[in-house]
Amino acid sequence: MNLYLSNNSGILEVVTGSMFSGKSEELIRRLRRAKYAKQKTAVFKPAIDKRYEGDDVNIVSHSQNKIEAILAKDVSVMEEYLENNPDIQVIGIDEAQFFGEDVVAFCEKCVKLGKRVVVAGLDMNFRGEPYEPMPRLMATADYVDKFHAICTVCGNPAYVTQRIINGEPAYYDDPVLFVGTTESYEARCRRHHIVKYRDKKETKIYFVVGTDINVGKEHAENEYIFENKNKQSMKILKINNVEDVLDLAQLRRDIKEATQNHDVIVIRVIGGILYPLKEEYNLLNLMIEYRKESEVIVVAENREGILNHVYLTIDVLHRNNINVKEVIYINKNIENAEEAANISRVSQRLKIPFRYL
Ligand SMILES: [Zn+2]
Repeated sequence: MNLYLSNNSGILEVVTGSMFSGKSEELIRRLRRAKYAKQKTAVFKPAIDKRYEGDDVNIVSHSQNKIEAILAKDVSVMEEYLENNPDIQVIGIDEAQFFGEDVVAFCEKCVKLGKRVVVAGLDMNFRGEPYEPMPRLMATADYVDKFHAICTVCGNPAYVTQRIINGEPAYYDDPVLFVGTTESYEARCRRHHIVKYRDKKETKIYFVVGTDINVGKEHAENEYIFENKNKQSMKILKINNVEDVLDLAQLRRDIKEATQNHDVIVIRVIGGILYPLKEEYNLLNLMIEYRKESEVIVVAENREGILNHVYLTIDVLHRNNINVKEVIYINKNIENAEEAANISRVSQRLKIPFRYL
């Protein structure tokens, strides 16, 4: 980006993203460069940002990169500073989401006065909702840079901040502060960002897929049903994609209805995971639709040469960030010690539990 104040026309730059995405570092970098150029700068940060107590005159990013900042309890502090220092050329504002709507008008005014304004702040709260007033600043900015942290679960670019309370994803309506709990935040991608709802029934969906035809999915499923009997209400749905006659819209309605009335849904799939359900849409796409609330049970026949099929199936599922619950080997043949050792090794390598039925 090419950002120089050549004609004092004023410019608004927004640096945004989730926590741990390097917003403050970027703000510091830009302000420092202005300082090196002997431009007159001022940096503000909210007085409520108590992340680093006792370090109140500095903006502190997570990497301990610092720049001197003025603590502002609200926008009036900035207004006053601007009045007393009309020759300020570059203004930085960190954690702008804490300043509320007033900061938008302040930024507009500064830009009109020909100043360069660099604003850093969270674009979304932990619920994944826009964090006002950042959206308004982003819309009215000359330049917006959205930074990404790295998802702590899968390593993909992170989209949003995950709030964790006592080791569990926070509920939508969890209060901001409460006593006797430990609270932390992590960067997460869309797939691994979880917001829990108190009034929403949490239904688990299991897809039962085979590495081949006639491996014994029904047998595995029956065992599973037996294990869960009396524990939860279950619904079994069958998908037969062999003949390409599936009504996908109806299936989605069935799944939706089942999630409202049952604790566990078992979806038995006849046909391979990459076999088309409808034109370009295959079972894998369906699993992706439900991947936040589902797990896959892979059923394989316990026979020589099956492990490569298991590897391939699990690899496809993992690459698509789909949860795999376990691999069930249907023990049709007499158990072979060498094969059993191989299965055990594969399981360890894939970090997925397995069992024989
Ligand atoms: Zn992720």
